[in-house]
Amino acid sequence: MFEGVRLKLFVIGLIVLFSVGFYVDRFAYGKTCPECGGTGEVVCTSCNGIGTCSWCGGSGKDRIFNPDAVCPLCDGTGDCRMCDGTGFRNCDACVGSGVFWMFSATSATLVFFIALLLSFLALFGFEYFVHSLWLNRNPWVRDVKEMHFWFNPMFLTWLFHLDRKKWVKWVTPICLVGAILIVFDFALILVVPSGILSRMTPEIFLIGMVSAIGLMTLVSLIWYKDYDKISSAFSTLE
Ligand SMILES: [Zn+2]
Ligand SMILES: [Zn+2]
Ligand SMILES: [Zn+2]
Repeated sequence: MFEGVRLKLFVIGLIVLFSVGFYVDRFAYGKTCPECGGTGEVVCTSCNGIGTCSWCGGSGKDRIFNPDAVCPLCDGTGDCRMCDGTGFRNCDACVGSGVFWMFSATSATLVFFIALLLSFLALFGFEYFVHSLWLNRNPWVRDVKEMHFWFNPMFLTWLFHLDRKKWVKWVTPICLVGAILIVFDFALILVVPSGILSRMTPEIFLIGMVSAIGLMTLVSLIWYKDYDKISSAFSTLE
């Protein structure tokens, strides 16, 4: 599909790297579940571990509205409906297994890398869209011979028209930094106990983030170097 040798080599290298990584490091590793201490069960929050129905207090009668009727919550059994009277429920965090799965460094790298790649492509597509739009709205830009100041707001639009390769040289690092900021911030927001990152130790988070940023920097280099080939491959797909 792609003409670029660099890209082919990189993709093959990536597959080998992750295959070895997953073989050595595994996808995930288990630790004792912090929610239930490895028992797989937690005290029922509905009955606080007593096991009796909270509506009828275990009598089986509807003592609140009609003492002669059967309790509507437990159908007269008197047992807590949430735990069937045992006082314990399956732990949600480990689905009752007692083992809490944590990301391996390789899995964390892959997750962050995919997030970076998608953010980068989205940002690049956005930049492309914005500059082609600006070019159409400001046709005079096509007639400008020289534009020296890169902080001129139309500089990138002008470059987009005049020298696409140079435009890519500017926009690629902008999108790389943007993607890193997006993914890093998003990952930090997810550092809440209930989030996906409760399944990552701080060390694994750091290793995964740094490795993924390294890989993504390589991708952006190849993206810039082989942009002609990549874009022509994309246009033949259309
Ligand atoms: Zn219960
Ligand atoms: Zn009841
Ligand atoms: Zn558990």
